Amino acid sequence: MARRIKVYEGKAKILFEGPEPGTLIQYFKDEAQEHDDSRPEGRGVLNNRLSEFFMTGLNSVGVPTHFIRRMNMREQLVRMAEMVPLEVMVRNYAAGGICERLGIPEGTPLPRPVVEYYFKDEKLGTPLVSEEHITAFNWANQQDLDDIVALILRLNDFLSGVMMGVGVRLADFRVEIGRIWEGDFMRLIIADEITPDNCTLWDMRGLDSEGNLRDPGPVSDMSTELARRLGVLPSNVTHTIKPTLIN
Ligand code: ADP
Ligand code: MG
Repeated sequence: MARRIKVYEGKAKILFEGPEPGTLIQYFKDEAQEHDDSRPEGRGVLNNRLSEFFMTGLNSVGVPTHFIRRMNMREQLVRMAEMVPLEVMVRNYAAGGICERLGIPEGTPLPRPVVEYYFKDEKLGTPLVSEEHITAFNWANQQDLDDIVALILRLNDFLSGVMMGVGVRLADFRVEIGRIWEGDFMRLIIADEITPDNCTLWDMRGLDSEGNLRDPGPVSDMSTELARRLGVLPSNVTHTIKPTLIN
């Protein structure tokens, strides 16, 4: 087998050159992510499946993503994109950073989905930035931002609906956006990954009758629970033998 060329290794994934120009292979690792050193063995397998599940659904309702197909337990083929250097976040309920920043109690429903942008630079701590910063530093222009908001709100509706269907509240999530060139035309697509690692999820059984958050929920590992409820993985498949990576 031909030796594969590693393009990038990040915290959660390794990127390899894909079989055709304009494609990449994403390998989902098990290793701990930032703020979380409790990722169980098999998390990469789970995330590969969940990202496939969400992106396949999005593609089928006309929300463009980079996902082409899953190749095996830990890898998927995606379209190579030029990444917008932002993490785009949507908040439906107050959780985490916004609670501290604005003094809002955890679990408060927000009046409408609130979109936030973070500059993707780990050395700087992925800081919150405004549209002014984004356009001034040319990370994206105003038209891109309008398109990103439209895209991300469709993504939010889709994800919120799918999760609500299995009794899970999507308090917030973040995702990365990429640019794809088709001739002279540029299209913005959902890239990177859609996994519980990038979401705040609450089991709706942890909510009181008025829908307020009573506690974060009775489920300790929402990722596995979500995958189980969505029927994406049987309940015990996260503990699997690691496949060997062919270099
Ligand atoms: P990081 O630690 O930088 O977040 P990850 O482990 O999540 O990295 O690896 C994914 C990397 O690949 C990210 O830097 C992300 O911006 C990039 N990426 C995701 N999707 C695509 C794509 N379709 N084309 C090119 N790069 C991508
Ligand atoms: Mg990442």
